[in-house]
Amino acid sequence: MADLSKGARWLIRTHYVMRVASFATVFIATCLHIAGKAYGPGAWAYLVGLLLVYPQLEFWWVRRSAASPAAVVRALLLDSLLLGAYIATVKFSDWLTFSVALGVLSNSAANKSWRSTGSTLLALAAGALLGVGVGGFHFEPHTDWPASLLCMLGLVAYVLAVGNITFARNVQLRLIREQLRARERELLDANATLHTSLEEIEALRKGLLEQANQDGLTTLFNRRFLDSTLERELARCKREAKPLALIMLDIDHFKKYNDCYGHQAGDECLKVVAQALQASAKRPGDLAARYGGEEFSLVLPDTDGVEALRMVEELRQKIEDAAMPHLQSDRKVVTISAGLAVMAASNYASAEQLLRAADGALYYAKWGGRNRVHVAPESSVRLALDAQLKK
Ligand code: GH3
Ligand code: MG
Ligand code: MG
Repeated sequence: MADLSKGARWLIRTHYVMRVASFATVFIATCLHIAGKAYGPGAWAYLVGLLLVYPQLEFWWVRRSAASPAAVVRALLLDSLLLGAYIATVKFSDWLTFSVALGVLSNSAANKSWRSTGSTLLALAAGALLGVGVGGFHFEPHTDWPASLLCMLGLVAYVLAVGNITFARNVQLRLIREQLRARERELLDANATLHTSLEEIEALRKGLLEQANQDGLTTLFNRRFLDSTLERELARCKREAKPLALIMLDIDHFKKYNDCYGHQAGDECLKVVAQALQASAKRPGDLAARYGGEEFSLVLPDTDGVEALRMVEELRQKIEDAAMPHLQSDRKVVTISAGLAVMAASNYASAEQLLRAADGALYYAKWGGRNRVHVAPESSVRLALDAQLKK
């Protein structure tokens, strides 16, 4: 019984106690009824064996059975058969028969529902037939009053005990149901907390990822992100035979701006240029990044040289038109210079080459007088061709 649950052990033990008590009561009532009458040793042996020894044997067998609660229920049919034979043995005494039959029927209904009534009655009848077959048919229904009284008291006690067991079981079930509900509520709460935590973790993860790829001052993407993205985008555009434009731009005389207006004003100027740059990166694939210091990059996948040149010219003009005062500059306002390189038909083998070309073009823009855009020589042929095609 060691492997059984608490509920199964309780069921087996309750059945045992009820059976021992009720069989012993029936035994005493039987003794009161048959004492001094013509009952042979065979009948006495059967009564002792059935009412005193059998409950112990059955308990021993049920405890050893693998599916013990199921064995308890199966044993009820054997009880009916043996008690049927008992009824024949006591010559169908009315109170003894009534008590035993009622006990067996109520027990099987409590354990197997009222649908088991038919099979229980059949087992009782089969047992009685067996008893008649062995001991012969005797019909003496009158029960002596001491036995009748004990049967009545025994039945009252039995019904009370069954009622009390049902009550205890109901209380136990209600308690278990309440515990399960409380556990379910706890689990739901834990689940909700877990969900919130997961959302917070996801938001933190996204935030960290953005921070790792973002420039703190301008909130544009940083150089790290640019390097990894440019390589990937270049490979994709090559695969799909599409152009990719890269613009490097630099604020003119920014050192002087800092010297003249202070580092903080320099920071504000960087933010304004960054915003203008970000506004130029209109399509989802476009990427505006702070390359370092006062240098910025704009990556434009699937954009030909003519379109990229138009965009960067527009940006340069926009910054000049913003007219941020810069007394140390030739134009007296903040301006930018830009270099443009366009990858088309695999004129640049790697992202590094493309960057170098755009940077070289930027250098020429500075050298040519600043506040202008210069196109890298490897790109300009392609650009002229594109322009021709568009005419
Ligand atoms: P050029 O026209 O040739 O580009 O001249 P420049 O003065 O802009 O170039 P240079 O490389 O000599 O100076 C860049 C300056 O940018 C120097 C540095 O103090 C400033 N700078 C770099 N990063 C920051 C920053 O985050 N904030 C501010 N305020 N200034 C920065
Ligand atoms: Mg500069
Ligand atoms: Mg610079």
